[in-house]
Amino acid sequence: MLVDGGLNTEEAWTALDQGVRAAAGGWDRVAVHVVTHMHMDHVGLAARVKEASGAAVLTGRLDAERMAHAAAHPDEEADYRAGLLRRCGAPDEMVGVVEEMQRSARPYTTTLEFDGVLDGDEGDVPGAAGWRFVWTPGHTAGHVSLFRPADRVLIAGDAVLPRITPTLGVNRQRTDPVGDYAAALARLEALDPALVLPGHGEAPAEGVARIRELRAAADAETETVRALLGAEPRSCWDVVDARYPGREMPPSTRMLALRETLAHLDRLAAAGRAAVREVNGAARFFLNADGEPGEQTRGGS
Ligand SMILES: [Zn+2]
Repeated sequence: MLVDGGLNTEEAWTALDQGVRAAAGGWDRVAVHVVTHMHMDHVGLAARVKEASGAAVLTGRLDAERMAHAAAHPDEEADYRAGLLRRCGAPDEMVGVVEEMQRSARPYTTTLEFDGVLDGDEGDVPGAAGWRFVWTPGHTAGHVSLFRPADRVLIAGDAVLPRITPTLGVNRQRTDPVGDYAAALARLEALDPALVLPGHGEAPAEGVARIRELRAAADAETETVRALLGAEPRSCWDVVDARYPGREMPPSTRMLALRETLAHLDRLAAAGRAAVREVNGAARFFLNADGEPGEQTRGGS
């Protein structure tokens, strides 16, 4: 089994080619290629790996559906992004910039046919004896991690990273990516992995401790965002400004920050821990003077 071929560059291909020859003896030894999630630094070389190995390419069901949909309906994709920005209270100018970015990036998006999908909470990986997949949504809706019970090795993809927290963000497939992510980490912790191999960087010395740390960090971020709310209804755009004061953000970075902050705000609203009101298509979030969700209660004075 090969996991996450990598980014579609010559340099990455050369490194992968050498790695496969050294570790497995050649491409004919690769029986299956599992892609943990749809990001280009993981899925980019999939077509080339297929050409070299003939191996089936598998990924989580929701990411396969998402990629197919984005390839078939690029305009709807741009509309979704624009709608999301408007809901965040972004200025029209920013909406225009992101729409333009979407249009110019279109020729570079790859279309890829998967040979099968990994569907459900967990299951066997076809073609990789002894390996199980575990659905670990959060970073993407369809993200999967791979686990071998015999020696408790976990190939975590971007669900567990050694130094940074993976990006989470509002998406059209799942309503609570932060809650999804916390639940996915709980599932990984319960497997008690002896070795955790992350999608980027070195394996953390204490894999289970890192999983716990990431879970606590996800919940702590929700509280950080809540602490930025007050009686004055605030758009997600304003909350991002308050969360990263004075930070210059290029549009792509701001887009990530907006999607992630909105995920925390939606989570708070869904849990009844923040109130939300729609004003001209933009959601505004607030607490009352008692720090509770809801309208201000007028005193009798
Ligand atoms: Zn990723």
